[in-house]
Amino acid sequence: MAKVRLKKRFVAGAKCPKCKASDSIVLFMEQGIETVECVECDYREQQTEDKVAQKAGGDVIGVFKP
Ligand SMILES: [Zn+2]
Repeated sequence: MAKVRLKKRFVAGAKCPKCKASDSIVLFMEQGIETVECVECDYREQQTEDKVAQKAGGDVIGVFKP
């Protein structure tokens, strides 16, 4: 697979939950998925739709509740 040049940008004021480094979190899109990554350690999280739904406190699995 060809290496795609990813447009990463630092998240101002963000703190890594793993190594506690400040201003080390970069945000970028990977295959349409919002991804956050720490440049100081190997912390990495992808904001999949499931996760977003969980964070929103919902139980969204393609079912609409009346
Ligand atoms: Zn880190």
